Amino acid sequence: MTRKILIVGPCAAESAAQMDAVARSMKDVLHGASAQFDVVLRAGLWKPRSQPSSFQGVGAEGLPWLIDAADHIGVPAATEVAQPEHLLAAYEAGIRHFWIGARTTSNPFMVESLAQVPIADKQSVTWYVKNPTSPDINLWCGAVERISRTGYKHICVIHRGFALGEHTTSVYRNAPMWSQAIGFRRCYPSFPLLTDASHIAGKAEHVSEIAERAMRMGMNGLMIEVHPDPQHALSDAGQQLTPAQLSDLLQRLAAIDTSAQTTQSAELTALRQQIDETDDELWALMSRRLDIARQIGDFKRRHGLPVLQQARYEEILQRRMNWAKEHGIDPEAAKQIMDIIHEQSVLQQV
Ligand code: PEP
Ligand code: MN
Repeated sequence: MTRKILIVGPCAAESAAQMDAVARSMKDVLHGASAQFDVVLRAGLWKPRSQPSSFQGVGAEGLPWLIDAADHIGVPAATEVAQPEHLLAAYEAGIRHFWIGARTTSNPFMVESLAQVPIADKQSVTWYVKNPTSPDINLWCGAVERISRTGYKHICVIHRGFALGEHTTSVYRNAPMWSQAIGFRRCYPSFPLLTDASHIAGKAEHVSEIAERAMRMGMNGLMIEVHPDPQHALSDAGQQLTPAQLSDLLQRLAAIDTSAQTTQSAELTALRQQIDETDDELWALMSRRLDIARQIGDFKRRHGLPVLQQARYEEILQRRMNWAKEHGIDPEAAKQIMDIIHEQSVLQQV
């Protein structure tokens, strides 16, 4: 079985005491994981936050905390770098694993300025390039190319989902759009591709389904945020796992048999993932539709209007049946689906 990579640890280093708690609470769990994974301890020191009032990270002060925690566990340390000063400070402190965050990958000037930093021993460094915030494979590939052409050999990429704002019905913080990750892999098959289940999920309860899906798809590893006390985390509190939850997740991952994956068609697996993702969206839309129906119900009640307005329904139905016909779908099947949806809407309204 080929070894996978697991980058794990808190969203951010917050204090010496918190990083000490990270080291103590995760040491045993991570030793257990070392049969399956090459483990790297993460903690953000410079945090690219959307709001200037949010916790911005402790900066270089946290370097020794992160390094001590990683030493205690016996794994390498990784942190996010967005500016040459970050990279220089972390490299001089002894860190050799760096990730480029989604917001930085989105900006070619910033990636180029990192690539140009004079690093003495480039072969000792491993880069992890996250996808840009928007689904743009060329931008992602361009960032990887900027790093690789300056002489770095160890480069991995991280799929962390895409910020689609209003344009997504995904239940996750970032829409996974697995097809983008697969598209990247098609261009650069030799770069290990990891999935950042935490930043896709956005909520601790969704992390394991994303991580398991990624492993089933044959991804080369995972990034998972874990905090000794997630509720009081200074950033991304909702999505960080406790060490105990990490331990459960790792057990589930160990049970996933990936040995058949090489013989099974990767394309079929990918298509099935897309079906699951589409169904997720379909059901999120369904629940949004029922929500609106409830609001319409309130309005009608307040204004003394009847719930059932047959002419309006006939018009909606006719429009959908025509659309179905134009798209090669049996209009009668479309009618049956609309009838069920309409019935549920009416029930919500009464
Ligand atoms: C992170 O990993 O802490 C982070 C900020 O992630 P992203 O760049 O994917 O948002
Ligand atoms: Mn985070």
